[in-house]
Amino acid sequence: MEEQLKKQFGERIKKDFNISPYFTLKMQTKAEFYIEALSIDDWKEIVQFTSINKIPFFILGGGSNIAVLRNVIPGLVVRNRYMKKEIVQETEEYTDLLLSSGYPMSLVVKETTDAGLSGFEYHLGLPGTLGGAIFMNSKWTKPVSYVGDSLVEGTIMDREGNVRREKREYFSFAYDYSRLQDTREIFLEGVFRLRKEDPDALKKRAQDSLAYRKETQPFGVATGGCFFQNISQEEKELHNLPTTSAGYLIDHAGLKGHQEGAFVVSDKHANFVINTGQGKPEDLQKMLNLIKSTIKEKYGVDLKEEVQVV
Ligand SMILES: Cc1cc2nc3c(=O)[nH]c(=O)nc-3n(C[C@H](O)[C@H](O)[C@H](O)COP(=O)(O)OP(=O)(O)OC[C@H]3O[C@@H](n4cnc5c(N)ncnc54)[C@H](O)[C@@H]3O)c2cc1C
Repeated sequence: MEEQLKKQFGERIKKDFNISPYFTLKMQTKAEFYIEALSIDDWKEIVQFTSINKIPFFILGGGSNIAVLRNVIPGLVVRNRYMKKEIVQETEEYTDLLLSSGYPMSLVVKETTDAGLSGFEYHLGLPGTLGGAIFMNSKWTKPVSYVGDSLVEGTIMDREGNVRREKREYFSFAYDYSRLQDTREIFLEGVFRLRKEDPDALKKRAQDSLAYRKETQPFGVATGGCFFQNISQEEKELHNLPTTSAGYLIDHAGLKGHQEGAFVVSDKHANFVINTGQGKPEDLQKMLNLIKSTIKEKYGVDLKEEVQVV
């Protein structure tokens, strides 16, 4: 595999590459092979090559929603660094803006609010890339706003490297869900319809949601965000629970502050696991198992990971 990859991509291929810094949870892990994709042509070349040569590949965006439970990710890890922004069309009311999947969400929010374009302002403080946020349909809940809300159409690639465009409906966005999670297609870029509004009003909304985030969540620490999805309304009723909040259940099971190696359950918000040092994948696995089994035992509920477990 090494020879094939080096022949095709030369020095761009890194072997046994330390990818820990690219995850917000910072667990210690490596990529068997690693490459960065900088354009759609890059993505095509990489995906077609891996498909023909049957090399497994893993897409890494901003690494803010991934828990790696192994020391090495086998095959090729492709980190998305494709950056593009272009106005497609404009009316008095809105702008259709093309944004690439490798665009960091922090820049998406800053640049659109500065330009007086509404659609992303509640996501100030959301880490990661636009591609990861579309894959996850990342959300803000006060008020409810999903990253997929303003998508008009997206350009996607299948696992053989074929590119096509799909309208918003194709993505079947729902809570923490887009169809890409089932098809494993790659989101390359999208056109977003953004309403024109006063930039100061947008910046105020953005700052208010950031302030709320800082008040309620651990901030500036190594974490993967909320680890588990909230339970459904039906489960809440079935088990006679006061809330659907996974954080509440973990907290009331007495797990705040629980430690496995360098990983600890946050004191501020029990659905956040924090890496306080050189956290190892096996300790993260132990933490995950312990939380799930404790909640099952105490409440009869099966918690489902919100983070993508690799
Ligand atoms: C401090 C903190 C706060 C957070 N707050 C929120 C929040 O408010 N709301 C919320 O919903 N989430 C939140 N998250 C979770 C996370 O930030 C989001 O899910 C984020 O949008 C993931 O983007 P990413 O680029 O980091 O994706 P990654 O973590 O890199 O990847 C996540 C998944 O998407 C896949 N993927 C990535 N890019 C693509 C692509 N272009 N095409 C296809 N698949 C792709 C990956 O293979 C992986 O399976 C938070 C996380 C942290 C650490």
